[in-house]
Amino acid sequence: MLRIHHTSASPLPLPFSFKDIHNLCCEEPNESSSSSTAARQPELDSSLSIPGADNRIVVYFTSLRAVRSTFEDCSAVRSILRGFHVSIDERDLAMDSRFLSELQGILGARKQTLPRVFIGGRYMGGAEEIRQLHETGELKKLVNGLAAAEPGTCGGCGGYRFLLCHDCNGSHKLYTQKTGFKTCTACNENGLIRCPYCSCAPF
Ligand SMILES: [Zn+2]
Ligand SMILES: [Zn+2]
Repeated sequence: MLRIHHTSASPLPLPFSFKDIHNLCCEEPNESSSSSTAARQPELDSSLSIPGADNRIVVYFTSLRAVRSTFEDCSAVRSILRGFHVSIDERDLAMDSRFLSELQGILGARKQTLPRVFIGGRYMGGAEEIRQLHETGELKKLVNGLAAAEPGTCGGCGGYRFLLCHDCNGSHKLYTQKTGFKTCTACNENGLIRCPYCSCAPF
C-alpha cells in the first residue's frame, strides 16, 4: 500500500494499466507443462544482466494482490532475500510502469512472471529458482560479498523507495500561464520520484 503523505486532498491516481501486470502475472499453462519433465535448472544466462548492480540484489515484484499466487511468490522471495541482510533494490511494478519496460528491456519480450531476481547484476530467475537455490545453500554463496543492507529504514522515504515529486507536488501536472497544464517530466505516472537515498540507478 502506498502511504506517502500528500499535501493536496486529491487521492493518488490509479496505478498504471493493470492489464500489463496481468500479462506478467498470468503463467502460460503450456510453458510450465513442457518444462516440468526436464530437471528444473535455474535459468542462468549471463547475457541477461543489469549494469551497475554488481554489489546488490535487484528484485522486480508487484505489491498488487491482483493475482494471489504471484503476490505470495513476491512476498516469499522478498523475505528470503531480506534474510541475508544485503543491499536489495526492490522495484515495485505497481509503483512505476517504467520498471516493466526496464524488465522487458533486459529479458526481452517473452512472457515473464513476477518476481524476477538479479543477484550481483546477473539474472537468477523467479520464485521457483530462488527457493531451490535457497534450499541447496547456493543462494548464501551467491549473495556472499554483496554490499551490506543499509541499517534501519531509509530516512529519505521511510522504506517506500519513492518520494512525492517536489516539482508538481505529486499531481504529475505542471501549470504555466503560457502553456496551461502540461505533464511533469520529473516524476512517474503516480507523481512519484525514486528515493535518491536508497535506490540505485534512479530514472
Ligand atoms: Zn529511501
Ligand atoms: Zn512531478
